[in-house]
Amino acid sequence: MKILVVDLNNFSRYPTLPVGLIVAVLRHAGIGVQVLSPLARGVPGYPRLTRAKPWDGLLDRMKYWSAVTPSRRVRALRRRAADALRPVDPSSREVIVGYARELLESRPDAVLVSAYTMHERTCDELAALCAATDVPLLIGGPYFSAREIVERWTTKPGVTAVYGGEPEAVLPALVADLVARRDLSRYAGVSVPGRVVAPAPPLHELDALPFADYTDFPWHRYPNRIVPIMTARGCEWARCRFCADVRTAAGRSFRSRSLDDVLHEIRHQRALHDASLFVFLDLKLNSDVALWRGLVDRLPDVAPGIRWTASVHVDARDENGLSRSDLMRAAQAGLTRITTGLESASEPLRKRMAKGTSLERTAAYLRDATEAGISVRLTTILGYPGEEPADVDTTARFLADHAPWIERVMLNRYTLMLDSDDDRRFRTDPLPSVPIRPGAVDPLTAIVEHENPTLATAAHRAAAYRLMAAVHAINRRPLLPKAQDFEGVM
Ligand code: SF4
Repeated sequence: MKILVVDLNNFSRYPTLPVGLIVAVLRHAGIGVQVLSPLARGVPGYPRLTRAKPWDGLLDRMKYWSAVTPSRRVRALRRRAADALRPVDPSSREVIVGYARELLESRPDAVLVSAYTMHERTCDELAALCAATDVPLLIGGPYFSAREIVERWTTKPGVTAVYGGEPEAVLPALVADLVARRDLSRYAGVSVPGRVVAPAPPLHELDALPFADYTDFPWHRYPNRIVPIMTARGCEWARCRFCADVRTAAGRSFRSRSLDDVLHEIRHQRALHDASLFVFLDLKLNSDVALWRGLVDRLPDVAPGIRWTASVHVDARDENGLSRSDLMRAAQAGLTRITTGLESASEPLRKRMAKGTSLERTAAYLRDATEAGISVRLTTILGYPGEEPADVDTTARFLADHAPWIERVMLNRYTLMLDSDDDRRFRTDPLPSVPIRPGAVDPLTAIVEHENPTLATAAHRAAAYRLMAAVHAINRRPLLPKAQDFEGVM
């Protein structure tokens, strides 16, 4: 049996972990696999935050203005421009579909596509190809846990089934039934035309999985050799109201691997790919403090000389694993870049977001991490429902005051994500004090359109520009030399 696995996630800095796992699981079951990675044909991945150019400050202001202006015409033009700049533009789509057509000539028994909702048009064309060549097609990806999305995708001509959940445990059997065109309804999480089901329950036996197989990825196209790795799925906190990551296929509920299994994989991937750079893709690497500390303690022996980057949550637990001495030890174990969500420096706003952090602790963390020699990145949200100009100014001041201890800030305009806690709350129980109006769901982004009239006021816009200026001043600086291998990785 031979399966074509199409990786539309196509990140241009390192291989896609869920696809590497799918490949490993299939190969372990004796199933032949071929991987279509668009990057192999030069299709670029989605760009991430890098050092700001002098003119980016002005560009960011213009982009922001065009997003919040009351002028419908400007907003429509902006949407059209954004559409043209989506990660898979028509010329990239043509390359991907042409590549798939070539690979289908070798007659795979089935095609598996790993996609985000934004890849819908590409998937439409791949599905048409599969229909024309009579090859069954199974689609999955992080956002196929939302009913609206699954309903839409199962009706596409050429799509045999859509999988919601983490497929690894059942994948070989599911693929065998897919190829034999048997009824797939015995599998939890498999939706077929006319029968949409809830996602499969979260997968718990993570140590039972083989290590991800990245051998098919176009390593020569990556600027350096970074291996993705994950110690756990989900987030121990899982309460931030804006967060959709904890609703995705792998993000629902927190489960971790054993420390030995993780270290064993690091040793294996390092030797196989001759790599000394790792990116931990955990939503919150300090979720399980014992595992995090164990990792930091044992990495210097297991993988001396590696450098790595990770996301953490500076949460309010007595022991969150991010004390000054924890960070010093982590730096000695190779932690080079770290990112965390500030989201806002306004206490009432963070409370409304259920962020679960304190400003004092975040400020101490910024100083401690920087003094340990770690490059620090923050994310912030602009335009959270209920945000006032004073809240924005509080964040701008915090960033300016702590600029010596921050190397990058990712400023995200608030998006109401489908299925997030905010989405559920605003749809069913809108707060009278929060003047937002949720609208339709954009099926290409899984974003619920919403209008927030506060953002169009001159006072809020002026505060937003002050915040952008503070962010721009930080993002203009170069990263620490040792962190530059990870520039644009997060
Ligand atoms: S800490 Fe991060 S991953 Fe966890 S719920 Fe909050 S935003 Fe989501």
